[in-house]
Amino acid sequence: MAAEHAITVTERLTPADLDRAAELLRAGALVAFPTETVYGLGADATNEAAVAAIFAAKARPRFNPLIIHVIDEAMARRLVIFDGRAAALAQHFWPGPLTLVLPRAPGCPIPLLASAGLDSLAVRVPGHPLPRALIRAVGRPIAAPSANRSGRVSPTTAEHVLDELDGRIAAVLDGGPCRVGVESTVIDLTGPLAALLRPGGVAAEAIEETIGPLDRAPASEGAPRSPGLLASHYAPALPVRLEARTVHPGEALLAFGPRAPRGAKQVRWLSRKGDLAEAAVNLFAALRALDRPDFTAIAVMPIPEHGLGLAINDRLRRAAVRSA
Ligand code: AMP
Ligand code: MG
Repeated sequence: MAAEHAITVTERLTPADLDRAAELLRAGALVAFPTETVYGLGADATNEAAVAAIFAAKARPRFNPLIIHVIDEAMARRLVIFDGRAAALAQHFWPGPLTLVLPRAPGCPIPLLASAGLDSLAVRVPGHPLPRALIRAVGRPIAAPSANRSGRVSPTTAEHVLDELDGRIAAVLDGGPCRVGVESTVIDLTGPLAALLRPGGVAAEAIEETIGPLDRAPASEGAPRSPGLLASHYAPALPVRLEARTVHPGEALLAFGPRAPRGAKQVRWLSRKGDLAEAAVNLFAALRALDRPDFTAIAVMPIPEHGLGLAINDRLRRAAVRSA
């Protein structure tokens, strides 16, 4: 049920807007909404046709599983089997930018398509009030990957969503720019050693303080255990050159910290004061802004590899891989 153009709700949301969005979702339509991480493309996770529509709208490969958004731990426990580690992480970080991959519970109502045929499922409790109100109103779990075409840069404003998906979705709820700016941290708890599948909005260090050491290899190895973490993703049209300490002729510069090399045709700062949280917020919008044919490439200054820097560098490394 994709409208010719998506309905955009930009003013402060009224209860009637929420009801309408919830009604669309219950009817199997796609509704995009802000979360604290990036904008999500939502569908009723219990409706196989609606889940299939997400894959179609994004042109997402069917081997790339979706994250299921729920209102709280109790709703999550109806979908997946918790262990002590999951309970501890949920207690510390939910609601928030943390996704847990857990075994499906018996009678789990989510179609296999949502998890790309896997017997595990990724669940998250978002912190943003808007998706929370929406899940409550729908009364069902919502499947929601980032609201961009597959392989492209994730959206952090409603305008980004419309740039890529207008005409393919029923509505977008505009909640302004996202507070975190990078996607959730994904932790796999299906094995004896908890594994970091994707660095994200919750620092890996904070997770290790709660449940002990993580297997960090999957995130760096190109992630055979996480089918969706393709080497090339977040791809701008321009080449991306990492660890840039100088600027080549024709390049635009993505800068971090107080001092930037001279000579760029245009500069966008992730954070002048070298703040990684601020850099995460600005990352995707800056990549989009510099991705113009006026430049030969996007040069990116080095970003420290700790805290949110892990998530930022992960996205930048994959933005730098040219797809075949
Ligand atoms: P996105 O929805 O685009 O933020 O991506 C979600 C990512 O979470 C996927 O690309 C997978 O890499 C990962 N993921 C989701 N579900 C599972 C699962 N059942 N097992 C392993 N990884 C998963
Ligand atoms: Mg995505």
